[in-house]
Amino acid sequence: MTKFNTAAAAPLHVVIVPLLAQGHMIPMIDMAQLLAERGVLVTFITTAVNASRIMPIIDRVHQSHLPINFIELPFPAAEAGLPEGCENWDLLPSKELYKNFFDALFLLRNPLEQHLKDLNPRPTCMINDMFNAWTADVAKALNIRRLVFHGTSCIYVFCCYILQKHNIYEKVTDDAEEVIVPDLPTTVRVSIMHAPGWLNVPGFKQLRDEVLHAEETADGVVMNTLDEIEPMFVEAYKKVVGKDVWTVGPLCLYDKDFSSRIVRGNKLAAVDQDRMLSWLDSMEERSVLYVSFSTLGKMKVGQIFEIGAGLEASGVPFIWVIRGVEKYSLEVVKWLEGFEERMGLRSLVIKGWAPQAVILSHKVVGGFITHCGWNSTLEAVSAGVPMITWPHFADQFLNERMVVEYLRIGIDIGVKKPALYWGEDEIPVMRDDVERAVRSLMGDGEEAEERRVRARELKEKAMKAMEEGGSSYENITSLVDYMHQTAGTLQGCAGNLLYHKMELPV
Ligand code: UDP
Repeated sequence: MTKFNTAAAAPLHVVIVPLLAQGHMIPMIDMAQLLAERGVLVTFITTAVNASRIMPIIDRVHQSHLPINFIELPFPAAEAGLPEGCENWDLLPSKELYKNFFDALFLLRNPLEQHLKDLNPRPTCMINDMFNAWTADVAKALNIRRLVFHGTSCIYVFCCYILQKHNIYEKVTDDAEEVIVPDLPTTVRVSIMHAPGWLNVPGFKQLRDEVLHAEETADGVVMNTLDEIEPMFVEAYKKVVGKDVWTVGPLCLYDKDFSSRIVRGNKLAAVDQDRMLSWLDSMEERSVLYVSFSTLGKMKVGQIFEIGAGLEASGVPFIWVIRGVEKYSLEVVKWLEGFEERMGLRSLVIKGWAPQAVILSHKVVGGFITHCGWNSTLEAVSAGVPMITWPHFADQFLNERMVVEYLRIGIDIGVKKPALYWGEDEIPVMRDDVERAVRSLMGDGEEAEERRVRARELKEKAMKAMEEGGSSYENITSLVDYMHQTAGTLQGCAGNLLYHKMELPV
């Protein structure tokens, strides 16, 4: 990693451009605050609907005088063929609109450039979500450094990068076939199913190529992970990527303040805060299972029934988050009513957004059934909570492997293939699978206890990483140093070029 002397520090102004999806925005807001606390002026790009969701955070930032400007760009929903107000991935009514959503983001290119050109002080660096490939042109037009942000695990980023580099995606004909991942010190095998790369789906080729190009041409990489949990992959990625890499996570540990953690990601939780807290407080330590899946997509009705039956049979108290209940049929709503009645005080069903960070870090929570989104995974790691892993797509299968195989703080529920490969009526997880996994994770057995010990140890490591002297803390220092140094270089460089041009005729 490049080391710089900050003595000749230039004033810094970083523009952060997140993908407008919960799992991407949440860690980037944490990062914005972290950088602002280190004295960096931050411009955070958002839109009206997204800003309103995080308004309590914006208010808190203003009250604490952190130097962050939240800029709301008008979201071109209609121009991209999206219903009005569909400004976040989780608001899209159907999968058919995914492409339109990316088109809308692309249309933000000119307004963003225009806006940034007029800012005073001028931006000195940009950090863009890796899916926002269109920001590459904006950074170029402004003549500023651009760092790409990966919000997922390094095991996934590395595997996809190296498979792409070795053309393995083109060579492999069977998605389930396992190939040896090149450039690792030990033999690791993955299938294309589990490391599908970025946007490797029909209709997205051009966008995928742009995303890969924007990653390749970025000046550096910022990752929401920590060296302590996946050192082999971080080292391997640094070796091959040919640019600076800063691991700065877990970013979820930035915010320790209850009042902002309770509204993390969305001010409107679908549960009364007092009711939830008194329910949690009434439970025994480490006795509660938390069940929640991705903010993207909707669960099949049959799958909901199987989860319910499995949880009921397990005998364990639980919080179950079910999103989009309003979109299910009356049959489901009625079933849920009966289910909640039967469960009584043993359960808390949250129909919509849950304050996940607060729930996971409550002392009564002793397990988490998760889809293995990387934020959820890091939040569980940071809270010392063991997991039942149930991946659905994208990075989630390799995140599962990290949790179960490498860190040994989880049990897999047994899903082998991503949702894309399921049959129309296929229900991948049955009630017995749920019951077995829950009993095993939450039980008193020796293995369960050892898993808990490892999870607690990992929590300590994660906390240390973010404290002064810790790996991620020092990497943030190094990142800020880099920004200082390169801001000076770039401005100086631009000035020099101009100077030489003017000198040439002489
Ligand atoms: N989240 C939350 N409440 C919910 C659902 C999700 O706070 O009801 C947060 C969760 O804590 C995490 C993010 O939303 O920070 C989801 O990101 P992740 O990478 O886990 O999954 P994704 O939804 O992107 O698949």
